[in-house]
Amino acid sequence: AVHIVWFRRDLRLQDHQALASAEAACSQNDTLMGVFHIHPKLTESFTVRHDYFYETLKAFMDHANKLSFPILCLYGELEASFDELKAKMDSIHTIYYNRDEVGFGKKRDEAFEKWAKSAQIKTKAFMDHHLHGAHDVLKEDDTHYKVFSPYYKKWRQLHKPEPVCIDESSLRQKSLSKKPKHEAGEDAYKRIMQQKTGKWKQEAGEQCAREYLQSFIDDTIESYKKDRDYPEIEGTSRLSKFLRTGALSIRTVYQMAEEKREQLKDDSGVETFIQELAWRDFYNMIYVHYPKSDNLEIKSTYQGLDWRSDEEQLQAWKEGKTGYPLVDAAMRQLNETGWMHNRLRMVVASFLTKHLLIDWRLGERYFAERLIDYDPASNIGGWQWAASTGTDAVPYFRIFNPYRQSERFDPYGRFIRSYVKELKDVPTKAIHMPHDLSEEEREEYGCAAYVKPIIDHQSARKRALQAFGNND
Ligand code: FAD
Repeated sequence: AVHIVWFRRDLRLQDHQALASAEAACSQNDTLMGVFHIHPKLTESFTVRHDYFYETLKAFMDHANKLSFPILCLYGELEASFDELKAKMDSIHTIYYNRDEVGFGKKRDEAFEKWAKSAQIKTKAFMDHHLHGAHDVLKEDDTHYKVFSPYYKKWRQLHKPEPVCIDESSLRQKSLSKKPKHEAGEDAYKRIMQQKTGKWKQEAGEQCAREYLQSFIDDTIESYKKDRDYPEIEGTSRLSKFLRTGALSIRTVYQMAEEKREQLKDDSGVETFIQELAWRDFYNMIYVHYPKSDNLEIKSTYQGLDWRSDEEQLQAWKEGKTGYPLVDAAMRQLNETGWMHNRLRMVVASFLTKHLLIDWRLGERYFAERLIDYDPASNIGGWQWAASTGTDAVPYFRIFNPYRQSERFDPYGRFIRSYVKELKDVPTKAIHMPHDLSEEEREEYGCAAYVKPIIDHQSARKRALQAFGNND
């Protein structure tokens, strides 16, 4: 019989729960095969994260091919695709997969389980994407946490799952020698491969993910605590895209960070990094408990807040033309690279929701279009945090001052200058508030074309306090 592993957003062949389990269960007379399902909806839209995901998929398929581990692409509605798979295979032993706890993935898993039951096919689902799932970290009374600090205290005490080793030669031996032919799946795979731009080739896949991780552990983690808030420094891991596509396992990341601790005199970098990994679990847990939070404020007091509708200002924010240099540099980083530094995600989200008083959902959607690491749970969590509408959010009256953030976290304006070319010759003393320069100075420094602030900081602040205060 054939043991089938269904790959989704876990595109790797190392430290993979479903694959390890299938491989271990595969006896001498059994064989092993992978599948990847392409839903027609997936091929309808194409954003930068699709581009990145397809590049990862390509790296994954190529790697599997090299190991002679066959991956069959299925195409069509879920049930029909698996019906076809069943018809093609002589005998399916079990289908293994790593499950999702929320959102589209959860609905898909439920539909699949229903199909498997009626088709009388055994399934095995695993917790793989997080160190701790949404129901693992509970208070004494078995309810879930709403605030990060106590959650983290508990999270830290729990035993962490260890990486699972997969023997590549055994994978090769057990693999089905010839995968069945499936034209619709092959055509769909070809179609999505034609869509991708090739821009992310050097930044995708399991091999690349491991290199990033290794270099972060070797060179950066030690100073992570000190450097991680400064966007001009490569002080963070840049692993989010690999965690999102599953090119990297979170267990491997955790273990390598912990092992590094033993070699360091000062392990505060490791400790702070691990705390960030816990935020990822925390927001997943929050999304599981508040599945409507993708479109609804978690704090009900702020539902129906009087958001402003201002297409022009929203557009200026998206394009990085607000006249606030740090905000603009950040948005241009997002538009150009598909990634934005965490400190800046907080700054621009606060700017949109407080200074412009524009609905956080519009910001959340724009990030979904532009981020290659887009993760609904972390993004919704981050946006609701910034908009003061989440469980553990910044209080509404603590409004980020974009100028102050700029002075603190980009003191020499190096990050600003690297993205806002109009400001490249502006001296440091004027870089955070170039609108204070005289017309002559603007000419002299070549920044006359840089837009003046689209909104005044003090009055925007007052307006936000009033709008949120009305609902409080
Ligand atoms: P590092 O600082 O090296 O952190 C290591 C890992 O920890 C990250 O890769 C990520 O998996 C996790 N992590 C770190 N900070 C957070 C956090 N605040 N919340 C959840 N996980 C975290 N992260 C995403 O992966 N996808 C998103 O769509 C996303 N949207 C965000 C939107 C807003 C408004 C905000 C404020 C934050 C968002 N984040 C999101 C969290 C965070 O900004 C990114 O995970 C981080 O910048 C990725 O860069 P890195 O891998 O170098 O992070």
